[in-house]
Amino acid sequence: MGWGNIGLSWTRYAKSTPTRNCARCHLDYAEEEDRCPHCGSIEDHEMQDYLHALEEKKKRKNRIIGVFLASLLLYVFIVLFVLPTYLR
Ligand SMILES: [Zn+2]
Repeated sequence: MGWGNIGLSWTRYAKSTPTRNCARCHLDYAEEEDRCPHCGSIEDHEMQDYLHALEEKKKRKNRIIGVFLASLLLYVFIVLFVLPTYLR
């Protein structure tokens, strides 16, 4: 699944109002779909790997957000406390 696919399915979900939560992967999908587009094509024995990959993706995203916030804080700290001492 590439980024184009993700974007395409996201716009489809954003437009369609009724959604339901998948019992297997716990992601939301349009009610008109007869099976979950996220895991509908995945066999039962592959589900564990798929859920693990989803979890890893979530963790990676949280890590990126953490790094971003940390650098933002560092930047604010430098601007507020370190720079004024040089400008004096
Ligand atoms: Zn699913």
